[in-house]
Amino acid sequence: MRIDVLTLFPEMFEGVFGASILGKAKEKGLVSLQAVNFRNYSNNKHNTVDDYPYGGGGGMVLKPEPVFAAVEDLQLDPGIRPRVILMCPQGETFTQHKAEELSGEKHIVLICGHYEGYDERIREHLVTDEISIGDYVLTGGEIPAMTVIDSVVRLLPGVLGNESSAVTDSYSTGLLEHPHYTRPPEFRGWGVPDVLISGHHARIEDWRREQSLLRTLKRRPELLERVELSKKECVWLEQQKQSMVDKQANE
Ligand code: SAM
Repeated sequence: MRIDVLTLFPEMFEGVFGASILGKAKEKGLVSLQAVNFRNYSNNKHNTVDDYPYGGGGGMVLKPEPVFAAVEDLQLDPGIRPRVILMCPQGETFTQHKAEELSGEKHIVLICGHYEGYDERIREHLVTDEISIGDYVLTGGEIPAMTVIDSVVRLLPGVLGNESSAVTDSYSTGLLEHPHYTRPPEFRGWGVPDVLISGHHARIEDWRREQSLLRTLKRRPELLERVELSKKECVWLEQQKQSMVDKQANE
């Protein structure tokens, strides 16, 4: 996969692209990551990329010319139409499902905004997607772009080693993941659930599934509506819900 980020602050990506899973993925040749400064595509002698908004008002607006020119200069593979993604608090909220969808692409281009916003013609005529990482406003699109890149790259085949797996991660299964424990078996008087040290694989799997359902019920019950559950699990969850209601009533 090839990922290009258009930004006014390419230096922000140096650490992120060189460390941990992203750094290893790049080293193994599983992904090509590039941060491009679109200020280099400014068409005026002062290298400005922003201008005052038509109609007045506060804040500066990113001009269309440098952003269009930077995308058009990416030496696109003729057979591949990249996804051109605008990082934007007004976009579609990013999810694991979207990360999975993007991980199937050959080429992604992410555009990081700054200032008050973008000239609307970028949104209308250049991009294929608009992504928000949540209902809050950051100074620029760099941190949102890093979030998207990290979550997409870790899904590429060969990127995660045996030490971590994306298959059982929260949201990948539709549920929140079960709790984890490691050594020591007792820490400051707090133990580990017996089943996890029983060596009984089938019982461990059952416990994990139950905990995953329970955790989802308690923290994100709306996710359960979209997950396929067995009849036995539906009955068990109804019992759990009832005992949660009873517990609350007694408090
Ligand atoms: N005035 C804009 C608005 O109200 O929608 C916000 C502009 S924000 C200060 C500057 C840039 O940061 C945006 O153009 C976008 O690239 C990025 N940004 C800020 N919050 C974001 C979010 N939640 N998700 C994705 N990008 C975000």
